[in-house]
Formats: sequence, structure tokens, C-alpha cells
Amino acid sequence: MDIVVSKKLESLPPYLFAEIDAAKRKAKAEGRNIIDLGVGDPDIPTPSFVIEKLYEAARDPRNHRYALDQGMPELREAIADWYRQRFGVTLDPATEVLPLIGSKEGIAHLPIAFLNKGDVTLVPDPGYPPYRNATILADGKPYAMPLRQSNGFLPDLDAVSPAVADKARLMFLNYPNNPTGAVADSAFFEKVVAFAQAHQVVICHDAAYSEVAFDGFRAVSFLETPGAKEVGVEFHSLSKTYNMTGWRLGWVCGHAGVVAALARVKSNIDSGIFQAIQVAGLAALREGSSVVEQNNKIYGERCQVFVDGLNSLGWKAQKPKASFYVWVKLPKKAKSSVEFARILLERANIVATPGVGFGKYGEGYVRFAMTLDKARLQEAVERMKVYLVDQF
Ligand SMILES: *Cc1c(COP(=O)(O)O)cnc(C)c1O
Repeated sequence: MDIVVSKKLESLPPYLFAEIDAAKRKAKAEGRNIIDLGVGDPDIPTPSFVIEKLYEAARDPRNHRYALDQGMPELREAIADWYRQRFGVTLDPATEVLPLIGSKEGIAHLPIAFLNKGDVTLVPDPGYPPYRNATILADGKPYAMPLRQSNGFLPDLDAVSPAVADKARLMFLNYPNNPTGAVADSAFFEKVVAFAQAHQVVICHDAAYSEVAFDGFRAVSFLETPGAKEVGVEFHSLSKTYNMTGWRLGWVCGHAGVVAALARVKSNIDSGIFQAIQVAGLAALREGSSVVEQNNKIYGERCQVFVDGLNSLGWKAQKPKASFYVWVKLPKKAKSSVEFARILLERANIVATPGVGFGKYGEGYVRFAMTLDKARLQEAVERMKVYLVDQF
């Protein structure tokens, strides 16, 4: 039988990271010494006290059964406590917090709860691909909000036409931002709340990098903004904060109606998160603050070394305040981001992500993830100096 998939599945671009992965695997199979700065996946291991908790909890037969769909009450309380301490925002653990199988899972399922055919989702461009693709899978229409360097990589909400704004049901935002490393302040979030109220748009703020910051910077939560909890939710993740990308644990919090709608979708799709993972995640939240500090020291130094290196090549790179991405304009003589990424891999055995993979407004940029140690980053700079001279 010929397998014919749906038009909407067909219409999704091949997942960018899957394509890069294929090229990288091929290069590795050829025995080349690859420096992989492509995917944003921390190289630092999960803290051992979290792993110990998992061992312990995995041995307890009570954790072997289906978990509660809405997550363990203890975990929801730990999340609410963490939120209050970190942001001064009070959340009701029973109705305003929902653990997720990684935040991507919730981001991908949320549009199903809100979009009817043809409804619009406002998505940042460049942006994390699931905002756009999950909208398409839910029969919605993504509408790109350009993130321009001249505007600090914040969307210009006044540039969204009233016709589009009124068809929009959802808006995704993400600060500290992947891929640009940009940050947002409370003045911006106040404008977002006003926009949401004026156009009845549900705001979905992805704060996966809220804890990854350097040089004294601390990200604000969208939910700190007056009125925010009446118009939206915030997604958080243990992945980047505690080096737990493979564990699959995150949460959504904020507007109880939005949280309940996502829970309703999920109750038809999954059956909760392995309880031992919830127990381990709870420990990370309660006892992980020193891990965050150590990570930030490491990422901060890596960003500094790499940015200094690029600048020594005549590039104009800036150290981000937060996230672990260096997002930089292509060198003068590079033709396009995909072409430049191809040259990087072919000549210098370096994997980076072409900006256009995050949307058309990402063209002209390349993203380097600081997920390798300083020595490897320095080596990457050395290789560029030797093999990419003609690009500068
Ligand atoms: C890594 C990342 C996530 C987190 O994903 P998890 O599913 O929680 O691992 C979410 N949003 C952005 C922008 C990311 O880069």
C-alpha cells in the first residue's frame, strides 16, 4: 500500500534539526572530528542528587503505575513555591500549574485547544520551530512577527495589522530568546498584555531559558506583569535549567482556563509523566539553585571566549545577556545562512544552525550553541581562522 500522509503533515518543513542531524551523522560516519554547536542540548550532566532521587523513586512500586494526568500534587506545590521565591508571583498549584512531558509537549498541544480552522497564531520569526508547526498541525495559520535587531529582537506589536490581530487567537513569545539570545523587560510585557486585552489573544510565553543568564542579569517572568495571568500562560522547563533535556519535564502555569484547556487536550493523548521523574524533578526544583549558579558561570565564560574569538576574526559578535546562544550576522562575504553553515561543516567540521531555519527573518544570521567546553570553542575559532578566511 502507498502511504499517503495528510496535506498538513506534508506541508511542514523537514524539521530543521533533523536535517542538520543527518548531515552531521554523515560527517561523523566519515570519521571527521566534528565540533557540534548546532543543537541546544547541554553537555553538562544532570546533577547527581537528581539521579539518586530517580534511582530511589524508580524502586518504589507505587511509582510504577499510571501517574495522575495533572501531575503529583507535591510537584505542583514545589513549582508554585519555586515561582513565588523566584518571581514573587503566586500560583494556585491545583488550578494554575500543570506539569508537562517537557515544555515542547505542551507548546505543541496547546494550539489544539484554541484554534479553529484558519485561526491565526502570531509567532516570532526567527523562532523555535514548534510554535509555527504545531499551529499548522492544529489547522491554524501561523503569522510571522519579525524580530529585528534594530528593535532588540522584540516584535513590533503595532506592526500587526488590526485585521490579523482580530483573527489571532494565540501569540507565542520567548524571552530569553532562542535563537537570538535577546531578553525582554517589563515595559515590553506591559505592551503585550494591552495587546492581548485589545484583541482577545491568549499569550503563551516560553521561558525555557529564564534561569540561564550572566553578568548579573536576571530574566523577569511574563506573569509578573500586571494583568498577565488574566491573558496567558508561561511555559517552563527543567531541561536547560538543570541539564535535564532527556528527562522530559516542564510545566505550564498562569491562567487557570488556559491550563485546564491544555489539560483536557492532554487527557486524550498521554497518561501523565513517569512518577519517578516527577520526584526527581521536584528535588531539582527544591535543591538545585547552586547548579544554576555553576551552569551560568560556565555558559557565561564560554560565550565570552567564543564572542572574543569571533571578534578577533573581524566578526561583530555580542555576548548575550541570557540563553546559551551566540547569534551573529553572517560574515560579509557569506552568501546565505544555509550556504555558510554548509561551508562551516565541509571545511572546518563545525556544525552551526543557519538562521533561516528559524524563519525567513533569521536569514543573514547563524546560531552557535555554547554546549561544548571552552577548549573546543577556541578550537572552533582557530579552524574558522584557517579555513574560512575568504568569508570575511
Ligand atoms: C529547549 C527549548 C525548549 C524546551 O524544551 P523541553 O521540551 O522542555 O525540553 C522550549 N523552548 C525553547 C525555545 C527551547 O529552546
